Formats: sequence, structure tokens, C-alpha cells
Amino acid sequence: MVAADFAPTSVQAKSFLQTNVMRVSILGATGSVGTSALDLIGRAPANYSVEALTADANVALLARLAITHGAKLAAVATPDAYAALKAALSGTGIEAAAGPAGLELAAGRATDCTIASIVGVAGLQPALTAVALGKRLALANKECLVSAGHVFMRAVRTHGCELLTVDSEHSGVMQLIEARNRDQITKVTLTASGGPFRTWPPEAINAATVEQALKHPNWAMGRKITIDSATMMNKGLELIEAQHLFDLRPAQLDMIVHAQSIVHALVEYSDGSVLAQLAAPDMRLPIALALTWPDRRPTPVPKLDLTKTPALTFEPADDIRFPCVRLARAAMHQGGGAPAALNAANEVAVAAFLAKRCKFGHIASIVDRALQTLDNRGLLPEPAGVAEIMNLDAEARRVATEALGAIGDID
Ligand code: MG
Repeated sequence: MVAADFAPTSVQAKSFLQTNVMRVSILGATGSVGTSALDLIGRAPANYSVEALTADANVALLARLAITHGAKLAAVATPDAYAALKAALSGTGIEAAAGPAGLELAAGRATDCTIASIVGVAGLQPALTAVALGKRLALANKECLVSAGHVFMRAVRTHGCELLTVDSEHSGVMQLIEARNRDQITKVTLTASGGPFRTWPPEAINAATVEQALKHPNWAMGRKITIDSATMMNKGLELIEAQHLFDLRPAQLDMIVHAQSIVHALVEYSDGSVLAQLAAPDMRLPIALALTWPDRRPTPVPKLDLTKTPALTFEPADDIRFPCVRLARAAMHQGGGAPAALNAANEVAVAAFLAKRCKFGHIASIVDRALQTLDNRGLLPEPAGVAEIMNLDAEARRVATEALGAIGDID
């Protein structure tokens, strides 16, 4: 089953219940989504068998998680970290692996469900390897769909992969879409918290510090996505993600600022009816649902009491104070290689901001300049495959790094 037709697949659901043990791998196990998933798995250990866990570089945490959850294989992306991982796992019987080959080994290991939660386009190849298993992929890495939407969805269909989303808003959409009347959907709206700078004046936003940008009001997440939330690029990336996940046209997709993060998504039908999905802002809900879909099981997520939540408010996204909204929308409408270039340039700009090498306000300027440069050079047609995507990604990073170097001219 692909996300484009969310007809519940009772056959697959039944097979999980029959065996009663779901084999799970987590690509990106030490991050926010990975540790939340392991928290859930640890609460029902009889239901899961942890196969492979991977991490970027945090060997100590990876080894601890692998031992705690009885993983069969642990892989670290940094090749140099192999000896340290091997030593940390010595005597446990857990296989150690490292580098790109180690990640491939982990991603290709047989599972019933692989959670793909590596940050950035670095997660693309491992996610594609897991797609090729033809089982369930719980996708937390939106960059895969932004950079490689068509190629990724083609692979999903070719291999009969059951693609489920772990992004909270998209999980909301998944729960709201009824397979039988998909052609009657007129609009899908993702909510945005507005981030820490929702009410700030533009000059203050442009000069915001890393510490201020990392203080997300509602969600506890990794550093990259938290900065993307502060620029609101995250919501722009999510529109592109939703376009591919649910096979929607750009004109059907919208975002709305909802500071309380209680409503996660809205689906409007042609008769004017709007369905909303509500839940406490806790990533364990979409993660749990991706593991048990189409079933639902109790989770530790706090129950919602609408008499005790603050008043729910909605306002339009301001693409003047948050120019990344405009850039992402433009890339989505342009299509072709624009979303991949947008994502790559944004990864460079966010990393530079986190390293205090540019101002917050420069993130959008760098992305804007990189996209314009690539477009002027005619480098943004639709990439044909993964190799073309990775070439464009590398070129966009190079151009964005040039723009970063010329930041004095941008100001
Ligand atoms: Mg999200």
C-alpha cells in the first residue's frame, strides 16, 4: 500500500497480529524520533524485535540503545567510529558496522517496519534501501520526499512498500483522508506553530540568536528541524512532503499558523465540510500509529481535555517576516529540481547559522540566492534518478556555500 491510497490493508495488519512480534529497524536511532520510538517499543517489548539501529556519530548512545533493546546490529555512519562501537558492543553478540556500507547493511536488514529518521538528504539512500525491502517504511525524514519526491514514490510503488508518515501533520492528514472520496478533497491544510518568533518584529527575527531560535514553544525536536520551524521553512518542506505522500497538486495544499499545536491538519472536502485531527503535541502518537496502523493502541501521550487547553487560534502564515514560506511555496510550484535545491541550500544555511557563521535572517537570503543562481544556469529540470538528485544536491550546496561566503554583499 502506498500513502496515495490509504485503504486499510487488513491482510498485512492481520499478519502482524498473528506473529505478534514486529521486527523493527530504526535508521537514526539516537535522535528525537528514534529515541521516542524506542521509548514506545520499550513499553511493549514482547510486541517488537529490534533488528538494526543506526546513528550518525553518537557511539555511546547507540551502543547503550542497542544493548537495552537487544538489537541484532548497530551501525554508525562515521567510518572512523567503528573501533569504538565494536569495543562498546564487545561481549554482547550485537554486530557492529560503520560507514556508508554499514548503513546499507542496517537499512537492508529484513524487517516488518523500518523507521527512517536520519536527518537531511543523508537519509535518502538508506531510506531507499529500506523501501526496496517491500515492507513498511515509517518515514520521519521529510527531506527524502522534498529532494526526491517522484523518484522516491516510484520506488515505493515498484517495491510494494507500505509508506506511512511519522510527521505529525501528515499523520493527521493520513487519519483524515478517506480512500473512497479522495477526488473530492479540495484542500489539505497543515498547521504551523509559528515557532518562537511568531509575534516578533522583522528586525528582531533577522538578528535572532541560535539560543533563541532553538527554543521551540511546543515541540521537542532535533536542532535542524527546530531551526526550520523558527524560519517556518519546515512547514514549506512539509507542503512538498504532503504533495508526494498524498498525491496532491500544489494548489490543494496550504498552511495556517496555529500557535497551540493541538490541531495538526485539516482536510476540506468539496461540499465545504472540513475534518480536523487533534491531539496533544507529542511525537510518540504519530510514531506509535505508524507502527500499529491501521490499528490503534494505547500510548503514553496525554489525553486531550479541550476545556483545559488554551483557546485555539488560527492566523495566516506571514511570508514577509518568514520569507522561507515564500521560497518553499515557489519551489513547490516550480517543481523539477527546485525542491531538491531548496532543501540542499537550506541544509547549508541552517548548518551555518547553527555554527554562528551567519545571521538568522541570512538563511532565507542564502537559499534565495542559491535557487536563483541554479535556475539562471538552467540546472533545475526534474532529476531523472538518485544520481541526478545527488549531483544537484551537491551543486546546490556548493552554490549556497558561495552565497554564504558573499554574505556581506547580501546584507
Ligand atoms: Mg511536522
